[in-house]
Amino acid sequence: MEDDFRVLTLLRPLCLVASLAAVCAANAQSFGGWSARRLADAAASLHLLPPEERWARQTELVARYSVDQAWPLTEGQGDGAPKPRVKVVDSSTPIHVESGELVVPMHFYPQMMAMALLVGHDVAVDAGEEIPVAAPLLFRPFAERKLLGIHPSAGGLFDPEQFLHAAGLAFAALCGPSAPDCQRSQGMAVLCSSIFVVAHEATHVRRKHQPRVGGTYPIAEELQADDGAIRALLKYVENLRSEGEANSEVERTSCLASPAVFFELNRRRAPGEVAKKEYQQRTEAVLAALGSERAAVEDLLVLETESTGLGKLEVRWTGTPELVVIDGVPVEAADIGRLVLSAGRHRIVASGLGGLVVSEVRIHAGRTTRVATDLEPFASAAAGDVASLLEKRQWTDVLLATSNPSLRPKSPVLAVPHWNALRALGLGAWVDQRDLVHATGRDARNAKRWQASGKPLSAWDLDLVSATD
Ligand SMILES: [Zn+2]
Repeated sequence: MEDDFRVLTLLRPLCLVASLAAVCAANAQSFGGWSARRLADAAASLHLLPPEERWARQTELVARYSVDQAWPLTEGQGDGAPKPRVKVVDSSTPIHVESGELVVPMHFYPQMMAMALLVGHDVAVDAGEEIPVAAPLLFRPFAERKLLGIHPSAGGLFDPEQFLHAAGLAFAALCGPSAPDCQRSQGMAVLCSSIFVVAHEATHVRRKHQPRVGGTYPIAEELQADDGAIRALLKYVENLRSEGEANSEVERTSCLASPAVFFELNRRRAPGEVAKKEYQQRTEAVLAALGSERAAVEDLLVLETESTGLGKLEVRWTGTPELVVIDGVPVEAADIGRLVLSAGRHRIVASGLGGLVVSEVRIHAGRTTRVATDLEPFASAAAGDVASLLEKRQWTDVLLATSNPSLRPKSPVLAVPHWNALRALGLGAWVDQRDLVHATGRDARNAKRWQASGKPLSAWDLDLVSATD
């Protein structure tokens, strides 16, 4: 599959929760000879292993299952070598075939899982299932579309250095039992993305393609391998349906969307124009092969809001802000003009030596909204006054009365009202660890929770923005 897969070392939090057993339990059905029970039992037996070993064994299980599915499904793609054996390795080499073996990096399964959680989530939301999602996910430029879209940071699923943010994103997208369609959808996505990748390699084997140095193939052979893989996936879905399984629209779409999403993520992070073009070509080819299922899959790839489109913002400041936060996400004041925002309301908080300002700005579609903003000087208020502002929920005034220029509490006794204001204004992430000593009991626990849950899951993605210009 070329350089699509790299070893990730930061998957621990994701994998602890998103266990294979949970996904399999959500798909209580038979899979062409492998019963769900067998897969789930095998996965459950791995639970007590240390994480590194567990990933390797989960990867081995999913890879074996995928080869057993993919090999017969790629029949007719050529008369090449015999079915490859599975070998899981602790290495960053992308999945590939070598001397009759399918060599699979041990992080293959958690990586497929991370992507599948996003795909499965989006498909289920698109189908109308109500799914609670941490607020920051919806605050990015595509806020009014109730889908993750392809969230800018999702590309980081494949980049170790960016993975923490992306893992947070996938983690937030993990659906629990209260969203059963989403759970099933995520389960299908993880199996189907694995089968697609393995079927791609199986097609290279059947067609006797010879990799170049570095494990890459000419684009014509990649397209052939993709073609074999997408046909295999369509047959896989058809087989499940004829067994009376996985026959909901959500499960089918989720299964068939994985290849296109995978290529699209790779296209957006590909370094050069040639590589981007090739991924574009591969995305189009797998979409074209989907026939009547194409429209449902394409919905996931479109970057636009459901409502009234996108606009830009220009802010003229009086006073120099040191910190600017839009919708809970920090941004350099100089970069604001480059952001693309969804039409509608956005909250800007800026602070500096001259004071702070909290303003709601309405962005209009298709044009640049210009606003002039003054920092309001910090105010001093007696403790009683602060209590009364708190009572009246005048959050901006509470913040003005309790903050210093770094947006930290002006004094220990003002810490709790300060945190309340931060939370109410979508700035929970700005609760400073060092100030937690000023509170005990419930106040301290709340502050800690607000800080953790208020963290933005990714930065504004200016590269993506300039690409849409
Ligand atoms: Zn390939």
